[in-house]
Amino acid sequence: MKIMVSACLLGDNVRYDGNNNYNQELIDFLKDYEVIKICPETLGGLETPRIPSEILHDKVINEEGTDVTNEFNEGALKTLELAKENDIKIAILKRNSPSCGFGSVYDGTFTHTVTKGDGITAKLLNENGITVLNENNYKEYFKRRGIEKEDNKFIIKKLCELKYNEKKLTLPLGWKENGEPFYRDFKNIAGLFITGSTGTGKSILIDDLIISLMYKNTPEEVKFIMLDPKRIELGEYDGISYLLGGKSASTLKKGYDMLIFLLKVLESRINTINKNNYRGIDEYNKNKTEKWPHIFLFIDEGSRIIKMKDTHSVLNKILLYGLKVGVHLIFATNSYLKDYASSKFIDQFKYRITFDLASIEQEEFLDIDNSSKLKGNGEAIIKGSNGEKVKFQSPLETDEEINDVVSKNLNE
Ligand code: SF4
Repeated sequence: MKIMVSACLLGDNVRYDGNNNYNQELIDFLKDYEVIKICPETLGGLETPRIPSEILHDKVINEEGTDVTNEFNEGALKTLELAKENDIKIAILKRNSPSCGFGSVYDGTFTHTVTKGDGITAKLLNENGITVLNENNYKEYFKRRGIEKEDNKFIIKKLCELKYNEKKLTLPLGWKENGEPFYRDFKNIAGLFITGSTGTGKSILIDDLIISLMYKNTPEEVKFIMLDPKRIELGEYDGISYLLGGKSASTLKKGYDMLIFLLKVLESRINTINKNNYRGIDEYNKNKTEKWPHIFLFIDEGSRIIKMKDTHSVLNKILLYGLKVGVHLIFATNSYLKDYASSKFIDQFKYRITFDLASIEQEEFLDIDNSSKLKGNGEAIIKGSNGEKVKFQSPLETDEEINDVVSKNLNE
């Protein structure tokens, strides 16, 4: 992972007085990361040393009264450009600076008095979905997220380990706004509906859930059925021992066949439970030597599947009886469902997760407000049928982590 850092914190003499804010602890921390060093004020064309500046009423004014807002804006834009080129998600910037400060800045009186506010660059980076930290809070941030330097390559594993001894279907969704890891127990969730525009984090969340299930359960305890008619996301799991049928269904016809197969399993489990007067899968598994695995049906690009004849009724049945017999539906779509899925269908999902959505119409149909304020990059809102509503950041796992988990679980 690349991290953007204020150059003065790394010892570059770019500060207004020709000095720096060298921070050995930060430099040690950054050893395992690729660092993109920036000084927005020099990028904006200001010389070093220079007259100090502070923000006053939306303008940046130097101590001699000259307006240097244009130079500060120019530096911010160039920094953002660099951040985008380098796919920066996190920046550690010097606090209180009129460029780099985030949350607090000097108040424009040149008396070292700090007030609430954001530096010009820090604000722009944040508006573009980049998490802005400073030299005082970065350690806490990384610690709370369970990311320790080298572990960030296996972030899902780390999050699973934090709750490894809890229930096997308790899976990480990411972190709440206060930085606390955020989990949900899927044992109580028959249906999870995930929506959002392309590239906002939907498919990554599906990967997170799949990998988490694999970390916490054996192939005897959970099985997957994967429907991916566009064949762009779930094909990477082909061949793993968790996958019923050995492969993800990559065409609508194969997807339909898998649904009918699952319907038969569901109906057979319901009959067995009813015949034996069991309360559900737990009681069944307690009484039998041959246990039932929980089955997770992952559907990516669900709008294509749901347009097919009869699929609605199969999915409805899973949503209705799945919990009792250990069948769970994870349904993701980026398309507008109104034309072919009723709100009644969507209402049956216990939880709905929304990443950034394309239109207000979509938001209204899905009864999700505030989503327009989501920044992309994995930021999402989960809404529960019990009225619960939580904003969270889903983890961005790496290809390295997926490849590692998949290669360790391939059928022989
Ligand atoms: Fe440091 Fe940022 Fe000021 Fe440059 S603009 S000297 S990086 S605080």
